[in-house]
Parts: sequence; C-alpha cells; structure tokens
Amino acid sequence: MRFVADVMLGKLARWLRILGYDVVYDPYAEDEKLVSCAVAEGRVLLTKDRHLVERWRKKLRQNGYLLLKSDDWREQLKETISHFELDIQNHRMTRCADCNGLLEEVPKEFVRYRVPFFVFNAHDRFARCGQCGKIYWAGSHYERMNAALDEILGELQSSSGNA
Ligand SMILES: [Zn+2]
Repeated sequence: MRFVADVMLGKLARWLRILGYDVVYDPYAEDEKLVSCAVAEGRVLLTKDRHLVERWRKKLRQNGYLLLKSDDWREQLKETISHFELDIQNHRMTRCADCNGLLEEVPKEFVRYRVPFFVFNAHDRFARCGQCGKIYWAGSHYERMNAALDEILGELQSSSGNA
C-alpha cells in the first residue's frame, strides 16, 4: 500500500516511512496536485482536509483515502495503522524518513569519511538512502525511534483490546 499525504501531515509521513511505507509528501503541494498524484500513481490519500475530500471524492474513491480526525501525529499514526491494518514490524527502517528513498546496506569502509568518527568506531552496519545519500546506522537515534514506535503500538493494542 502506497500513500500520498497532504501538507498538514509531514510528521505522519515521516513515521509511516520509518515503518517502511512509501509516502509522497510535499509541503507545498496544492490539493489538485495531491489528487492527481493519488490517481496517477495509485496512492491512498491521507488528509486532514474535509473540503478536499468532498470536492474530489469521486476521483479519490479509486484508490481510497483516509480523512484523519486528530491533529496529533501519534493519534494520526494510530488511526492510519488500524484503518489499513498496516504491517508495523517487518519493514521498519527500510526507507529514508527525509525523502522516501529506499535504504541499501553499505560496507563499513564506505562511510569512513561520511559519518562522525565516534559513530564509525561504534557501529558495524550502515545503510545509505539510494535517493538522497543520507547515511543511517542503528545508534541512539534509531533506538529512540524504535522505542517511540513500540510505545505507540502498545497503546494501539491495548485500546483495540478494550474495544
Ligand atoms: Zn533519502
């Protein structure tokens, strides 16, 4: 499942990418551009904008859309995950949160002069975004992201258990 997110949803777009989902996000995209991207590329539209949905409902029905309720990205992420029953474990950290490119593992030697020295020394596995070139490694930032995800997913499970 692939997505296009409206201009209000930058944070949600990043976190869906961290889960491994393909999300087009352009902070300057106008409604018409979002809709044509959804139609042309077979993407589900994620939006906060009721008017957008009402105006383009016919076109959006083709690939589906989700009109999000919350203003908080954590709640938005939960809404999206439960609505589409997304796989939230198996593809984490396979995609660049910044640009949506796919990450590819690179040999340690490749990053020697591309990451801080202490990072190079402390880690053995590195990945590079095939699109923007950003280098990723499983450091403290990575652990914090995983912890944040686990917390959100834990809340999701306990709330669906109570329903
Ligand atoms: Zn990238």
